[in-house]
Amino acid sequence: MLNLVIFGGPGSGKGTQSAKIAKKYGLYHISTGDVLRDHIARRTDIGKVAHSYISQGMLIPDKLMIKILEDLLKSRTSETKHGVIFDGFPRTLPQARELDALLEVLETKISVVIGLEVPDAELTQRMLLRGKESGREDDNEKAIKTRLAVYHKQTEPLEAYYKETGRYVAINGEGSIDEIFDKICAAIDAAK
Ligand code: AMP
Repeated sequence: MLNLVIFGGPGSGKGTQSAKIAKKYGLYHISTGDVLRDHIARRTDIGKVAHSYISQGMLIPDKLMIKILEDLLKSRTSETKHGVIFDGFPRTLPQARELDALLEVLETKISVVIGLEVPDAELTQRMLLRGKESGREDDNEKAIKTRLAVYHKQTEPLEAYYKETGRYVAINGEGSIDEIFDKICAAIDAAK
């Protein structure tokens, strides 16, 4: 079983690269952002709560986010049997610790954390462009500023958490999609 985390700022290419990784390695792709946007589209109770945070560029509270992920993992045992690529989760230290604990119960673990490194100015440009094309409501200047600040404060400390256990691989996230994908595959293959 190969479990990966893709890590990086908003707009760093996590979603694009995760889809390619999932396809190549036969992994189940869990994007917590997509899961939450699906709840919003279906107007569920979770969707209503999620919307109030996402629209402002803030993180959904850990307790709710962890519960959503736990329920998803427990209900997808056949889809996840070859492994999972976690995209957008964990985003806080409590989430990272909980993920390790959850996987331990399932007798598996995170093998590699791929950190996509992209400067803030480039992330901002990418998200503004994406906002025009996809109409994502959090791809506007105000929410982008908050998302970058939240990333540096709450998510970046995870880098040290994963480095401590030797699971973090930094990848330069600038360049063409295929160039970046090749570097990611080399990192995964080296760790397998
Ligand atoms: P993403 O599609 O990964 O950029 O996520 C979009 C938004 O969904 C984030 O800005 C958060 O508001 C919310 N979100 C996604 N994943 C998480 C998470 N692991 N913890 C808290 N909030 C999350």
